[in-house]
Amino acid sequence: MGESGDSGLLECLAAIVGTRHVLFNPVEISPYLTDYRGRYTGNALAVAKPGNTEEVAALVKYCAGRGIPMVPQGGNTSLCGGATPLPDGKSIVISLSRLNRVRALDKENATICVEAGCILDNVNERAQTDAGLIFPLYLASGGSCDIGGVLSTNAGGMNVMRYGNMRDLTLGLETVLPDGRIWNGLRGLRKDNTGYDLKQLFIGAEGTLGIITAAVLKLFPSSRSEATAWANVPSPAAAIALLARFRDRCGDRVHLFELVGRPLLELVLRHIPASRAPLNKLSEWSVLVDLRDVADDVPLADLLEQTLNTAIEAGEANDAAIAASRAQAKDFHALRESANEAQKIEGFSIKHDISVPVSRIPEFISRANAALHAWQPAVRIVAFGHVGDGNIHYNLFPPNGMDETAFAACAEEARRIVHDIVFELEGSISAEHGLGQLKREAIRRYKNAVELDLMRTIKHALDPQGLMNPGKVL
Ligand SMILES: Cc1cc2nc3c(=O)[nH]c(=O)nc-3n(C[C@H](O)[C@H](O)[C@H](O)COP(=O)(O)OP(=O)(O)OC[C@H]3O[C@@H](n4cnc5c(N)ncnc54)[C@H](O)[C@@H]3O)c2cc1C
Repeated sequence: MGESGDSGLLECLAAIVGTRHVLFNPVEISPYLTDYRGRYTGNALAVAKPGNTEEVAALVKYCAGRGIPMVPQGGNTSLCGGATPLPDGKSIVISLSRLNRVRALDKENATICVEAGCILDNVNERAQTDAGLIFPLYLASGGSCDIGGVLSTNAGGMNVMRYGNMRDLTLGLETVLPDGRIWNGLRGLRKDNTGYDLKQLFIGAEGTLGIITAAVLKLFPSSRSEATAWANVPSPAAAIALLARFRDRCGDRVHLFELVGRPLLELVLRHIPASRAPLNKLSEWSVLVDLRDVADDVPLADLLEQTLNTAIEAGEANDAAIAASRAQAKDFHALRESANEAQKIEGFSIKHDISVPVSRIPEFISRANAALHAWQPAVRIVAFGHVGDGNIHYNLFPPNGMDETAFAACAEEARRIVHDIVFELEGSISAEHGLGQLKREAIRRYKNAVELDLMRTIKHALDPQGLMNPGKVL
């Protein structure tokens, strides 16, 4: 909407959140209208930035009364167009960035109560500084995404194997419902069997059932001993066997276990300055593994080395490098964490964020590779991911020399091939990024009719006007 837009609406919004916190000028609102990957661009009447829960509730009540759709937005790092308004320009983007207070930190209860607009990495930093505890959710977007965003997408990331995803890390929620009522469920309880677990409705709902304004999150002791290795492995099946070996020998000390295919490593080495391969020989497959322990002076590097030596003898690994310092461990991690940036620089890709039972990862990769090479022999497959959670990011780049637009035109065909295999392996077509706009249609093919019906029933019960983040998920 331009400056000549609906001044009555703008005045009402300004009366709720203050004039400075209503954006409507096309230049000012443009960062809120396009997604991280530049794949979706929408339009909006305005962007409103409430400063507290009561202002969120007043905004929602106002919009609900006038039938104005609302798009909640956090750090706008969604990889499926979840936070981008539709192009019709009828909605208001509600940015939670000003709700950024830590409301309480209870060291003995190991919980922190934070508002939705707190940046993820800042929450962890605050827990460490004020209580010597950690909030363990760790994503490469952690410096930009916020708590409302990671809750609404049930984000996972690198540490799920050890600590779980946002569903597992959340004890309580405060949410503004689509009619403007505030639900205060900010309890810091680890046991509470008093009926339905309502918070789980809003976690992973991608803003379609209400606006999360605050949460009580679990904290954990920080680790004092750490060791990191990069290992070349002969195949995905060997990686899974290696994971089982690590679990058997190291139990909960296995903090992270990531699979990296050679094409991803090559993209990172090509596009990310100062990145270096940990081993001289590039292998078709590698893994990044971290061991951690809360106790001081646990000789984790020795344990890592012994485990890798036995794995090499068993043919589960070919070669390995153990980080000799924290700086080197950080360099190993950076190779994996630069995946999104390197791929963005490389250009257009057809992305899949899938999960299957861990034991079926090798079968997924070999079947999907074969089917895609039969479909497009020179397609470039970039596969990597949180293999300890059965989650693979399986991305397709156009054959060298092929026009990106022509390749993009085949995206639906490619997705169908990959997702059908995932379905046959009893997996999920969205392991951690959500459905957003990208997979809204596809999900109808893979969720059963009863599940879809239940989802629609819940949506209708909470948001009968369909005003919360329309065009996403369902
Ligand atoms: C470089 C990079 C790395 C990533 N790595 C991972 C990863 O390892 N694991 C992973 O799971 N994801 C990853 N992601 C995607 C991930 O979904 C986000 O980074 C994060 O979860 C989204 O947070 P956000 O604050 O940016 O939310 P946004 O993008 O702003 O919003 C995401 C969704 O939540 C809704 N929403 C936002 N705030 C609220 C709220 N307060 N109430 C209700 N609904 C709300 C939006 O409407 C939208 O549907 C990555 C993204 C990038 C760019």
